[in-house]
Amino acid sequence: MADVLARALACGGTVRALAAVTTGLVEEARGRHGTAPTATAALGRALTGALLLAATIKRDERLSLEFSGDGPLRGILADATPDGGVRGFVYRPATHLPPRAGKLDVGGALGRGVLCVMRVPLAGGPPYRSVTTLDSGEIGSDVARYLLESEQAPSAVGVGVFVESDGRVGAAGGYLLQGMPGASDTALERIAANVDAAAPPSDLVRRGLGPADMLRQLLDGIPLDVLEERAVRFRCRCNPDRVTAAVVAMGRAEIEGVLASERRVEAVCEFCASRYVVEEPELRALLTERTEPPAL
Ligand SMILES: [Zn+2]
Repeated sequence: MADVLARALACGGTVRALAAVTTGLVEEARGRHGTAPTATAALGRALTGALLLAATIKRDERLSLEFSGDGPLRGILADATPDGGVRGFVYRPATHLPPRAGKLDVGGALGRGVLCVMRVPLAGGPPYRSVTTLDSGEIGSDVARYLLESEQAPSAVGVGVFVESDGRVGAAGGYLLQGMPGASDTALERIAANVDAAAPPSDLVRRGLGPADMLRQLLDGIPLDVLEERAVRFRCRCNPDRVTAAVVAMGRAEIEGVLASERRVEAVCEFCASRYVVEEPELRALLTERTEPPAL
């Protein structure tokens, strides 16, 4: 099944409902970063959570989730745009812990810490930044706590990744259900009961459910209006021009130092693991073209 996110409203527009299938993009992230199973689950949950949250913000912003903890994984960064692109990495990709209660122990890998949510205007300007204490380190409940404490929006957030015995991602996905102003207690209680009774999102994806099917199951008995389904993908913003700009920013003396030693600059994008190499001829060209003071 393709990676798709569905956006819907229920209860006369007072409940926002989003769900996503993210198996392909989480597998791509695993391949790029070479993550071990527990780290794969942590990264995939965070990527899915970032996509779901980004689908609730203004179209001229991007959203980043930074989880920092005292566990062996240390942290996760996931960064998404409302049009369905996401990228991210974990600080210690080799992290793997024994399963807990039959599940990959993401909470144990992350430990105790904080979640920092940033919304950054794409056109520049000051970001909105909010920090909350981690709830369990299992990602879904941490995002739900952020929504309740920072945005006063009672929410249920489920994100999950099923890792096959060979380490590949078999299924990944998630949902975000949120009471908006005017939502009735009865509706919210019914949704909470449905969520408690539902299988984890990775199980729903493994059964072949698409995001709209997932929402229909989670909102069983509640009329639902699916507004949109759109493709989501792993996408990074790095490119060779940014690497060139970073080399120029090193300054003349440092570039000359590189030319006298390694004679090339290697850079690896931390978000997508793409590797860039700037060779000697290009370094020499940058030195003459770009770091000379402007001629008077
Ligand atoms: Zn990149």
